[in-house]
Amino acid sequence: MSRKPIFAANWKMNKGASETEDFVKSFLSKQQGLNLPAEIVIAPPFVSLPKLADLLHDSNPGQNAHAIQIAAQNCSQYDSGAYTGEISVLMLREFFVHYVIIGHSERRAIYGETDATINAKIRKAREANLKPIFCIGETLAEREGGMLETVLRTQVTDGLKDVSEKDLSDIVIAYEPVWAIGTGVTATSEQAQEAHAFVRSLIADLYGSDSAAKIRIQYGGSVKPNNAAELMACPDIDGALIGGAALDPQSFLEIIRNGTAE
Ligand code: PEP
Repeated sequence: MSRKPIFAANWKMNKGASETEDFVKSFLSKQQGLNLPAEIVIAPPFVSLPKLADLLHDSNPGQNAHAIQIAAQNCSQYDSGAYTGEISVLMLREFFVHYVIIGHSERRAIYGETDATINAKIRKAREANLKPIFCIGETLAEREGGMLETVLRTQVTDGLKDVSEKDLSDIVIAYEPVWAIGTGVTATSEQAQEAHAFVRSLIADLYGSDSAAKIRIQYGGSVKPNNAAELMACPDIDGALIGGAALDPQSFLEIIRNGTAE
């Protein structure tokens, strides 16, 4: 089963419109002619989405700009109304957003998002035909306490509750051990492969082996140009969700290039 790897830049609360423009212009000029065998996604802050949409929409397709998809970093589980500070899935669609990160560990830990909230957001995103990048992962205490499989099973089962097999085919899972996010500590390729294979087995239990073979599972957690190749060589790792190292166009490009090199 060949799965197209997907490399997504999660800029978190970094880069307003002018920095977005600088990044994209630089990235496109470096990427020109490379024809990378991967799907490339950028998730800027909400306020930079219009600028990113303009830049990618107006770019010359010869620069491969059309190969870059736009993601949001979050969405509301509601359609509209009295939800101060929230952004709906239909609002995102207006800016050519195709993906939405849901359940990032920072949303879980800082903003108290539960598996039930995350499930509601995933289902709402699918109603608007947005593709969720569904984040899961254990804390260090959970891993050291022997809870890895229990935590991942609960996050996957509850996060995908009432999600159809058809909708699953438009979902990407991002396995991100919380202890590896923004810490400079990366999971070893053995640890990452083991967790990815387990997540794929959970999908097989829930949806069958065909869906499990097709679903893309990204690794996230201190991915850098110098560790991308080893991680991406693992059979169950299908790309990366990248924070810090995707703030620089050269470093993001090197991750993709190293992670897709034969
Ligand atoms: C992330 O925020 O999803 C992430 C993986 O961050 P970093 O690459 O900085 O660890």
